[in-house]
Amino acid sequence: MGTSKAQRLAQVLRDGGVNVSFEQSAIADAARGSALRTMATELVLNALDDVEARRDTQLLWPSVLVDGGINAVGAAVRVHRLDRPRWACMRCGFKQAASSAIAVQSAATGLSEATLAADHGRGLTDGDIAAARPELRPWLKEQQQLGRTVCATIAEAQARRVGMNLAAGFRPSAPFVAAMSATLVMTEALKSLYFKQAQTTQHFQLESMFIGPKSGAALRTSVDTRCECSVYRSQIEKVAADRGKLAQSAR
Ligand SMILES: [Zn+2]
Repeated sequence: MGTSKAQRLAQVLRDGGVNVSFEQSAIADAARGSALRTMATELVLNALDDVEARRDTQLLWPSVLVDGGINAVGAAVRVHRLDRPRWACMRCGFKQAASSAIAVQSAATGLSEATLAADHGRGLTDGDIAAARPELRPWLKEQQQLGRTVCATIAEAQARRVGMNLAAGFRPSAPFVAAMSATLVMTEALKSLYFKQAQTTQHFQLESMFIGPKSGAALRTSVDTRCECSVYRSQIEKVAADRGKLAQSAR
């Protein structure tokens, strides 16, 4: 629509009377940037599609972090709170992928890692196909003739792997499932902020929107004592306490 998603969402919130700025970058870069470093980050709401990005947001060590997502099962929410030291954080809860996203995409499409590291929005070139794994070149040629971009080729290859065909109507995301995940995120965020003593769920997985909460499961992942959240616990708590004092003095 000619505007970045970050910019557009910021404008929607501003129209609602909230003072909002926006950053358009990878989480790790934003966290190192001056805008975020000057903030006393108390609350983080994640709506991400990548494990590494989720792990990176944890390094802001907010008092409350609520992470929403959709997965092969349905909609899910995970919470990390500094006042619940036995709960896994996003770093010990989401394990690092054994192989990079590019390696997984290369295995599925046959495209070289150099092609996959470049702009995914462009169409496939003859050079991309020549550099690809030989057994997948005929299939890639077909994708090129269909006018598919690198991004669309990856989606098609991943859909083929799970026995689905995009042309037959498969769509990778159902908006109402994502909306349910957002609802779970806001529910847990409000509980963590305003009803701190109420029973809270660390990880809730909902399977069917049609059956409702009965198809859900409350899960618990214990902290990994080798994780930064455990090893640097006292420093993290000190930073959070200083943040609290800063907020008090600003009032
Ligand atoms: Zn951890």
